[in-house]
Amino acid sequence: MTTIDTSRSSALINDARRRIPGGVNSPVRAFAAVDGDPIFIARGEGCWLVDEDGNRFLDLIGSWGPLILGHAHPEVVAAATAALQNGSSFGAPTAAEVLFAQELCDAHPALDQVRLCSSGTEATMHAIRLARGFTGRDIVIKMDGCYHGAHDSMLVKAGSGVATFAKPGSPGIPESVASMTRTAPFNDLAAIEATLREGNVAAVILEAVTGNMGCIEPAIGYLSGLRELTQEHGALLIVDEVMTGFRLARGGACERYAIDADLVALGKIVGGGFPLAAFGGRADIMSRLSPVGPVYQAGTLSGNPVAVAAGRTTVKLLTSAVYEELENVGADLEARLADSIRERGCSMARVGSMFTIFFRGDRPKNFSEVSECDMAAFGRFHRAALNHGIYFPPSQYEACFLPSGMSEDERDHLVEGIRRALRES
Ligand SMILES: *Cc1c(COP(=O)(O)O)cnc(C)c1O
Repeated sequence: MTTIDTSRSSALINDARRRIPGGVNSPVRAFAAVDGDPIFIARGEGCWLVDEDGNRFLDLIGSWGPLILGHAHPEVVAAATAALQNGSSFGAPTAAEVLFAQELCDAHPALDQVRLCSSGTEATMHAIRLARGFTGRDIVIKMDGCYHGAHDSMLVKAGSGVATFAKPGSPGIPESVASMTRTAPFNDLAAIEATLREGNVAAVILEAVTGNMGCIEPAIGYLSGLRELTQEHGALLIVDEVMTGFRLARGGACERYAIDADLVALGKIVGGGFPLAAFGGRADIMSRLSPVGPVYQAGTLSGNPVAVAAGRTTVKLLTSAVYEELENVGADLEARLADSIRERGCSMARVGSMFTIFFRGDRPKNFSEVSECDMAAFGRFHRAALNHGIYFPPSQYEACFLPSGMSEDERDHLVEGIRRALRES
């Protein structure tokens, strides 16, 4: 078994921990779930990451989803650089953001109008406020295991029971705030219906294909059932496409599964690797936003011109040929790994270029089934994959993302490395 040298990363994490809590600026980067230490990245090139020790890894994280075109794509770099030379931020309208809004509305079936912000957290936070302001209701239903950013009303966990009052997901979130959120298991329509019947539900929000508890595909009839139930009870359907938008299709999960969402949140890919996100939807709902309507929302760096340039270029490059390529590469990977995955007692879930290898014989359908995975084995797999030059997300509860533009050799490296890591886990 090979073991790579990570001595510079080890020295850096010790320094980092003195001045940054846990040494990281977002907790999942600490590799705690796989009992490891983070790797410090020096640069990215296409589908590769190069760390501070000079190790090269085929990157299946892609900055947690944005880098569908790979690292430092020359056209994205050129567009961002050109925009930067004209000034980095104005806090005033620009022509490019108007074009971008039109392009986003053309690409995504749910968008009549859209507003830009700076992170996925903001996008869902504002979409939820807007849903509450529009309906005049307070309760929001989320699915157990879906992630919608780190704001108070969504950073909650399921209580006991099937459809329940949420509990604060962190100290610092008041019980009273968490109690305005209800949770239900993913893929369970009966639980949603029971909560909707209680009344006062402003919105149901979900990841239509989950990434934040690993990749789980919606059961047949689940999404159309949610649409019918929300309509019947006067609640809005918010599809959080921060991960799936421009990932599963140009029009995201809404296009792929023909979902008629009222509001959607976008992020990750739309920013082309820069801090940019968006939320939007039906014009009658969006027109409730300030300054036309009473629902307040704002952001100093919203529509940042450098991020808009990178986002526009990324979205422009995402042609149907790219989605066809990603589908083929994903299907080929799944087929070539099938035997090794079965022999190891694992399962693989994949939708387009999103996938997860679960250390569980059957693909999970919800969060509690993901929790049954052999987490210790996943940790061993993660370490072995790093030693074989593959950068997997450091948690069983995450999805992998394939970038476009991988060569035959790079795809072989991926298959061989994963096969070996499965054997060593
Ligand atoms: C990443 C993510 C978010 C949060 O986005 P940030 O930019 O990290 O704030 C929200 N929803 C989903 C589905 C995500 O994957």
